[in-house]
Amino acid sequence: GYPARSVYKLMEIQRKYRVVSRGDRVLDLGAAPGSWSKYLLSCVGEKGLVVAVDLLPLVIGSHERLVFYQGDFTSDEVQERIDVHAPFQVIVSDAAPSTSGNRGLDTARSEALVERILSLAGRWLVPGGNLVAKLFQGSGAQEIFRAVREGWERAYFFRPQATRRQSFEVFVVGVGKRS
Ligand code: SAM
Repeated sequence: GYPARSVYKLMEIQRKYRVVSRGDRVLDLGAAPGSWSKYLLSCVGEKGLVVAVDLLPLVIGSHERLVFYQGDFTSDEVQERIDVHAPFQVIVSDAAPSTSGNRGLDTARSEALVERILSLAGRWLVPGGNLVAKLFQGSGAQEIFRAVREGWERAYFFRPQATRRQSFEVFVVGVGKRS
């Protein structure tokens, strides 16, 4: 079993876009409690690697092909640890900034986080690599979409069935990073 239902969203994305392949090195940002990481391990197989990062610990057991760092992936200290495992074929992020209940503020924070992830993709993702990032869609969403379309061969905003109907979350998907 999986500790979080959010795994169904990644499964839908994988079924639709085939973002992860066997043997890939995948960076999983905002990974706790660990459902995506556990599913990703099954996708990459015994020659792949999953590097997971979260402020909170994972509750899935340790695994030969899993590396976990507890900390803030926007900090220099954690980024230097991630550098050691780069480059990656795939970066996924289910990271959500803590919400305030103020929609404008929450979407702005989420957009800022996705923008940081896009710039980290420049540092860590191979040419041809894929990106999946959760976004609380607000007024800056079109700008983010434009950036993904510029940086990747194919760009999508995907709303999984598993997302609650009233939620404003979408997943930014970039397939085939341009070099
Ligand atoms: N994908 C996970 C799973 O399937 O188990 C669920 C992820 S949960 C929805 C979002 C996570 O993002 C939280 O555990 C939170 O601690 C983490 N997070 C948010 N901002 C972060 C940051 N800057 N650095 C590390 N983790 C962060």
